[in-house]
Amino acid sequence: MAGNLYVVAAPSGAGKTTLVRMLLDSAAGVHLSISHTTRSPRPGEQDGREYHFVDAAEFRAMIERHEFLEWAEVHGNFYGTSKTWIAEQLAAGNDVLLEIDWQGAQQVRKLFPGAIGIFILPPSMEELERRLTGRGTDAADVIARRLAAAQAEMRHVGEFDYVIINNELEVALTDLCAVVRASRLRFAAQSARHSALFARMI
Ligand code: 5GP
Repeated sequence: MAGNLYVVAAPSGAGKTTLVRMLLDSAAGVHLSISHTTRSPRPGEQDGREYHFVDAAEFRAMIERHEFLEWAEVHGNFYGTSKTWIAEQLAAGNDVLLEIDWQGAQQVRKLFPGAIGIFILPPSMEELERRLTGRGTDAADVIARRLAAAQAEMRHVGEFDYVIINNELEVALTDLCAVVRASRLRFAAQSARHSALFARMI
C-alpha cells in the first residue's frame, strides 16, 4: 500500500468539514472518500459531491454484497464507506481521507492498522455549545441532544493518533497539514513511493 489512509473524526461543531475542505485545497494528492448515506440531502448538498444519497433498501443491498469497508448507524441514519475506490486509490499511491465517526474508525483501524487517526476537538465546551446552539431558533431539547451526541463522540478521542484543537482555523489547518506531511515521510510510505531509490541504496 503506497498511499496513506487518514481517518478524521470529530464531534459536530468542531469545524471538521471546513478544515478538511481547506486541507484538500492545500495538500495535493489527498483524495476524499465520498460516503454513502441514507439521510436526506441538506439544502445545497449534491448527490455524488457531499455523499452518495441512497435509500435504506439500496444501503442494505450494499451491506449484503459486502461493498462497504465499514458502515455505521449515526443519529438514526446509515453511513458507509465503499471499498473498491479506496483500494484503487491507495494502490495507485494516492492518500485517501475518510471523514467518518468513531464506530467507522474502529472498523477501519482493524482492517488497516497503518491508518492514521486524527481527531478534531473544539477549543472549549463553551465554544462547542455556542456553535451547536445555531441561530437560536432550535428547541432546547434539540440542542441538548446535539451536545450529548458531541460528548459521546469526544469520549473516543483517545483512540486516535493525533488531536487537533480547532481554536484558530489557520493554526488548525497548519497542524493538519503537518500530520499529512509527517505521515508521508514515514519509512513505510517513503520506501513504497521511492522503491527504486531504496533498492539501489540499501
Ligand atoms: P452528517 O450527516 O452531519 O454529514 O454526518 C454525521 C456523522 O456521520 C459525522 O460524524 C460523520 O463523520 C459521520 N459519517 C459520515 N460518513 C460516514 C461513513 O461513511 N461512515 C461512518 N461510520 N460515519 C460517517
